[in-house]
Amino acid sequence: MSEEKFDVIIVGGGIAGSVTALLLARAGLEVVMIERGNYSGAKNMTGGRLYSHCFNGIIPDFAEIAPIERKVMHERVSMMTETSNFTFDYTSDRLAQPGKESYIVLRGIFDRWLAEQAEKAGAMAVNGILVENLIIRDGKVCGVIAGEEQMFADTVVLADGANSQLTTKAGLQRKPVTPHQIAIGAKELFELDEKKIEGRFNLAPGEGSAWLFAGWPSGGMTGGGFIYTNKASVSLGIVVTAAEFINARKSVNELLEQFKAHSAVKPLIEGSKLIEYSGHMVAEGGYGMLPRLYSDGVVAVGDAAHLVINAGYTVRGMDLAVGSAAAAAAAIISAKSRGDFSEKSLSMYKRLLDDSFVMRDMRRFRKYPRFMENRRIFNEYPEMADEIFAGVFVTDGAPQASMFSKIFKTAKKNGLRNLAKDCIKGVSTL
Ligand SMILES: Cc1cc2nc3c(=O)[nH]c(=O)nc-3n(C[C@H](O)[C@H](O)[C@H](O)COP(=O)(O)OP(=O)(O)OC[C@H]3O[C@@H](n4cnc5c(N)ncnc54)[C@H](O)[C@@H]3O)c2cc1C
Repeated sequence: MSEEKFDVIIVGGGIAGSVTALLLARAGLEVVMIERGNYSGAKNMTGGRLYSHCFNGIIPDFAEIAPIERKVMHERVSMMTETSNFTFDYTSDRLAQPGKESYIVLRGIFDRWLAEQAEKAGAMAVNGILVENLIIRDGKVCGVIAGEEQMFADTVVLADGANSQLTTKAGLQRKPVTPHQIAIGAKELFELDEKKIEGRFNLAPGEGSAWLFAGWPSGGMTGGGFIYTNKASVSLGIVVTAAEFINARKSVNELLEQFKAHSAVKPLIEGSKLIEYSGHMVAEGGYGMLPRLYSDGVVAVGDAAHLVINAGYTVRGMDLAVGSAAAAAAAIISAKSRGDFSEKSLSMYKRLLDDSFVMRDMRRFRKYPRFMENRRIFNEYPEMADEIFAGVFVTDGAPQASMFSKIFKTAKKNGLRNLAKDCIKGVSTL
């Protein structure tokens, strides 16, 4: 591969990499996508739910041809303590409206399919190769180094995920990422009969449930648990901010074990078979954590650019990966038409991104990471929900207080001022 020159080299064959490759190849550019895993998706994990709107105009018949697991028809959010669980379960035909629906995907299957679409469009996919470094000449990124090999291109696209080392080497990531900006995710996949999944999660055939938990799953630390229903398996995991583990009393594995053993979770996976375990980082710093997104001969997309939103009730990274890939591809195609791959020319990427749903939503949720550092959300409030509902539903013959006085008494115990402050902050942040 020595001294080979391409129009574009893409590092990373995840969702961001494959969509960039697909769009560039369709436009006739000579593209190579280099993935360190033996196939695209081999190293990737997500809970996870994908909002399909991002594929509008990229793969029009997406829902018919993509290897999706289930359409999300139940949005569930729980507040969990060691011995209780309060769940909010939303279902509506609106969740199924074309262009607004979301799907649960398994990345090992989905990413492989997406990379194949890029290959069919003419991109070259090289798997099992780790890109170790960039070739930078006169301040311009002009290629990559993988083992003994050097490969050259007009533009290098960094799509190498949340733990990207190359964004630092390219001078895009100037400040080191802090443990408050990164979360650790761990996921287990349980094989379970399709019919059992539908029975246990109250789903019609083909329907899925996206379920996030606050409180007990993260041991009261900033983070939460998740359960997603696949066709014939269930994804279950936790995500906890890395900074929390500096003084944590429990490891990720211990948290995962206690989550699975909870009385509200155990029956859901009873009799299933553990078939996969994975761990991954999540960039959770939001808008304030964004690196520079482009420089001479280089752009960063998806998680490598830290384009992720954790809004508590939903995690979004995959649709932002697709949106950023589309903006990057459009900017590179335009740069190619001018024969100019300078920083100025590639700044079009940032302009397109700013005008897209990606940056609009990143900006909207910009205060959310700070709000989520509030420990009350993961400790006092799940306890409070437990006390209120125990007061409402547990009856033992003793004189009953009115609903209002039960709620008021419990809220007062936890500090009415804090509660009011957090409610206002939560609503204004969202
Ligand atoms: C536990 C968990 C749950 C999540 N849940 C959701 C969810 O429900 N919905 C959602 O939208 N998002 C979710 N996310 C976030 C989502 O997974 C990411 O935002 C998304 O994967 C970003 O895609 P990407 O292509 O940018 O990066 P990645 O998917 O990380 O892909 C990067 C690729 O680059 C490759 N690579 C890395 N370094 C190199 C190198 N040096 N050389 C060659 N190849 C390299 C990797 O092997 C990988 O294939 C979740 C994340 C985690 C960890």
